[in-house]
Amino acid sequence: MPTRYVNARVFTAKEAMAESFVTHAGRFVCVGTSEQTQAAYPNAPTVDLGGRFVCPGFNDSHMHLLELGCLLTQAQLAPHTDALSHVLGAVADFAKAHPLEPFIVGRGWNHDDFRDVHRYPTRDDLDAVCPDRPCLITRACGHVAVANSQALHLAGISEHPVSVSGGRVETDETGRPNGVLNENAIALVAAQVPKPDRAGIRARLLLAMDFVHRYGITSVQTDDFSSLDVPFEEILQAYLELKEAGKLSVRVTQQTYLPSLAQLQRFLAVRDWPGWQDEWLRLGPLKLICDGSLGARTAFLRAPYDDAPETSGIATYTQEDLDALVLCAHRAGMQIAIHAIGDGAANLALSALERAQQAYPRSDARHGIVHAQVLPPDLAERMCALNMHAYIQSIFLDYDSQIVHSRLGSRAEQAYPAASLLQSGVTLSNGSDAPVELPDVLGGIQCAVTRMSFTRKAQSPYLPKEALTLEQALLSFTQMGAYASFEEQTKGAIAPGYWADFVVLGQDPFTTDPFALHAIPVESVYLGGHRVR
Ligand SMILES: [Zn+2]
Repeated sequence: MPTRYVNARVFTAKEAMAESFVTHAGRFVCVGTSEQTQAAYPNAPTVDLGGRFVCPGFNDSHMHLLELGCLLTQAQLAPHTDALSHVLGAVADFAKAHPLEPFIVGRGWNHDDFRDVHRYPTRDDLDAVCPDRPCLITRACGHVAVANSQALHLAGISEHPVSVSGGRVETDETGRPNGVLNENAIALVAAQVPKPDRAGIRARLLLAMDFVHRYGITSVQTDDFSSLDVPFEEILQAYLELKEAGKLSVRVTQQTYLPSLAQLQRFLAVRDWPGWQDEWLRLGPLKLICDGSLGARTAFLRAPYDDAPETSGIATYTQEDLDALVLCAHRAGMQIAIHAIGDGAANLALSALERAQQAYPRSDARHGIVHAQVLPPDLAERMCALNMHAYIQSIFLDYDSQIVHSRLGSRAEQAYPAASLLQSGVTLSNGSDAPVELPDVLGGIQCAVTRMSFTRKAQSPYLPKEALTLEQALLSFTQMGAYASFEEQTKGAIAPGYWADFVVLGQDPFTTDPFALHAIPVESVYLGGHRVR
């Protein structure tokens, strides 16, 4: 049965603004003026949207849906990160409230926000608030974590560190592990956390899908294989079961994290996984992670950090190993999306992609760099030459605009590009990397157009010349997100034939103060014409 929506300000992401549209059998079938939709569907029941702003459902082009769902079952530390004592208090409260939880896990602290001390938490801090059970708390960025003594003991690193390729077990002045784990070393302890079974995975995905609706999200491009140490088949199967039960409430593209040749080859043998190539579930690009984060100084730079000249960060691959992986996936016809934050990591990624394209040229491969935060013009030019896509997270500016100058010095003048990437011909979509940041699309749009923090005090915008226009920012969360997953003909616009995924906002962003965009209410969310929020 068709439904006609009238009296709206419709940002179509394709044509001019419209005021009315009709949905039928999950799709938009007519878009235009009220007279036009009335003439085409005279008998359709009508919904009056009261002059509200409507745009295509938001698409978060890089996040971790399963990890977000896991986080929603763990100690939430982000709201307490104004002081280490508050973080530790939140861990203690959570442990007390969950007496049967065998392993206390938390996430979201950021030492840059601590008012009381200026250091990472340690095992001793955690032992004081969680002495009876293992405990692991991860920094907001996900690239540093701290374990207590019981957790270190489970991993066999309580008294002596081990060396980990692409990671580090930190020690105190006596050489004993102090609980701080960097990058790949986190897995030593994370592997000890009891894993959810299939039903547990489904429950976490349901939590996360429900959570992202509050931000107007109807599509996600999610890297889930890196979130849980279970065979990827378990995760694919959990999604399929949700789809078969009619419980999927966002459309999902899986950014398949397969960090070794062995895993990639295992995946290539089963990649025609039945049920995973429709409008609900898609197997997307190979996802690789080349470095860490700027906040934790693990992003791999071409030259040392300004505020830590002894380090340039951590590259998680040698050029040779990365070349082999990229070549294998590219030859097999896969799209590739590589996490690269530092210019050193972007250089590694671009070199690998250039070699693969040279050996086996393929047009419209839509390979991409995820984050692309330290990306001077020479690297942007190479991206453009390869016709590449940038998966950016404008919402990172909320925190990173505070640290970018100290970490990068003069290189901060060429970091977090957005407008210049578009100008140079690189396509660009937007996301949150949730749970690194909240999947707060309107907050991300505000950061994209103002280049300023909206949750922290900020004096002046960071590189305002890199601001996106509001229209570009909206497109980066709609049409360009669909482009990134090769779905721009069916999704991300309000036009006949497109999936009827749309969001009704409480205010028109085009007439809202740019500094108030994050506060615009998401009033309702529709997926395939059905209201999901
Ligand atoms: Zn990520």
